[in-house]
Amino acid sequence: MGMYQTICLMVSESDFWDVHSQKVLDRMHDLDFDECPICLLDSFDMEGLQCQLCGHEDSYIDCIECKEEFLASLGEEVGDYELCPVCVRADAAAFNHEKY
Ligand SMILES: [Zn+2]
Ligand SMILES: [Zn+2]
Repeated sequence: MGMYQTICLMVSESDFWDVHSQKVLDRMHDLDFDECPICLLDSFDMEGLQCQLCGHEDSYIDCIECKEEFLASLGEEVGDYELCPVCVRADAAAFNHEKY
């Protein structure tokens, strides 16, 4: 009986750590880290709007074109508007097409 209890304890202890580390990972996942525009690592805290690694602070703005949210430093100012990286690329492509 004593032996059985010992094994039980060992198993539940390792289970605890498995569950515990999984919870930490889940938490990391829940926190929604995005790619930092500066250091390009997935360490940008989307809630705190600051990179946990390089300390870069950013803000989210809505794209005038597609209405999607994007990081301000990734977009481009076009007159009084801000375009997201996707629309900037689309815009540049259209511009080049017209030009040539
Ligand atoms: Zn960073
Ligand atoms: Zn856009």
